[in-house]
Amino acid sequence: MTPPVDPVPDSPADRPPSVDRLARSLADIGLPHPLLVDAARSAVADGDPGTATERARAIAEATRRAMLTEVVNATGVLLHTNLGRAPWGTIVRSDRYAALEFDLSSGGRGSRQDRAPHLIARACGAEAALVVNNCAAAVLLVLAALATGRGVAVSRGELVEIGGGFRIPDVMAQSGARLIEVGTTNRTRLADFSAVTESPTADVALTLNVHRSNYRIEGFTESTPVAELSGLGVPVVADIGSGLLDAACPWLADGPPAWLQGEPAARQTLEAGAALVTFSGDKLLGGPQAGIIAGRADMVAACAAHPLARALRPGSLVLHALQDLALAYLARDGDAIPFWRMAGTPVDDLRARGMAIRPDLVLDTVSVPGGGTLPGVEIPSVGLSLPGDRVGELRAGDPPVIARVADGSTILDLRTVHPNDDAVVAAAIAALAD
Ligand SMILES: *Cc1c(COP(=O)(O)O)cnc(C)c1O
Repeated sequence: MTPPVDPVPDSPADRPPSVDRLARSLADIGLPHPLLVDAARSAVADGDPGTATERARAIAEATRRAMLTEVVNATGVLLHTNLGRAPWGTIVRSDRYAALEFDLSSGGRGSRQDRAPHLIARACGAEAALVVNNCAAAVLLVLAALATGRGVAVSRGELVEIGGGFRIPDVMAQSGARLIEVGTTNRTRLADFSAVTESPTADVALTLNVHRSNYRIEGFTESTPVAELSGLGVPVVADIGSGLLDAACPWLADGPPAWLQGEPAARQTLEAGAALVTFSGDKLLGGPQAGIIAGRADMVAACAAHPLARALRPGSLVLHALQDLALAYLARDGDAIPFWRMAGTPVDDLRARGMAIRPDLVLDTVSVPGGGTLPGVEIPSVGLSLPGDRVGELRAGDPPVIARVADGSTILDLRTVHPNDDAVVAAAIAALAD
């Protein structure tokens, strides 16, 4: 009998010695050996053998740089989807366990949904809340738990695509609920809704109000606010998306900024009569990726009891971050929430920072909320402007600095840069070749 042959040659003896030697020569790059072997293999496999060493080093360095890493966001986009939307702390890593589903007072089983969701509900005036993976998951779970096999009425003006494949009609189909389109693209009246909610055959479980987060309909328009919809006697679910907890922004000393005008908030939407609101954790809430379902306790409980809730639940990293975030909101400490601190920094403070970095480069610019929220909204800001396109060089630094190009200049917007990183920005500019 011949012994079975390992199909993957992974011991040094099975590999051409040159690959292994090459991989070992790259040890200083700081990647695990198997990844260095991959780099060495592909360098040896194609190209001039004489330059394989340089190629292997370049491949391994590119692999290291491609890892998920922290960056300095100098784009001025506060909720940059490609940079993880809201900045919420860094990686929490502990060798200890978390009392995730453990009740410390009784020693018995607890629920992971007891703490952060409860605190968020408290902060927006909801009876109860549930946290899932993101807002798309929140909408899916609400529809699946409360409307499978039944009708959900939505205005034709709100059958939106949020981006990344999240389309209301598709989510509806996945949930097993039946979409009932109401009204027209530009105008939907209460009578359009009541015609279906009062129909004996439509079997309407919910009306769904979807915030037009990323576009506007202007001109000859009409829509039905939540306060009107809630009078129809069918529970209203409002997908507000952005996660503004309270339109009065009690966590900001100066109250709500002007640019927030018209953005729906969880507290006021519930007060207007919504049975449930759904929103993201990493948009205007300013936290980690999560989706929140908040509102009537019986409906939240029905969502929590649905089998999909198990598949969509968050882990302790996210729940811990959300707990800290909710405590900051309840303490009315907007400065402890990076998104709100950055959004609210006075322009004069930004200018002073710019002057300290490079006075000759300071320029007035505008930041945007981003993240598919508040389309068209601009927030006055101050940045540094360099002639030409230098974004590639800035991105290649350590840490990478992400800037934007406008009208042939490279702009580094200081609103989205933490003041602690001003020195990084200064060094990155100084390091640019002339
Ligand atoms: C952003 C948004 C979503 C999707 O939220 P994710 O957290 O990205 O899944 C859903 N609905 C509305 C109205 C949104 O603005």
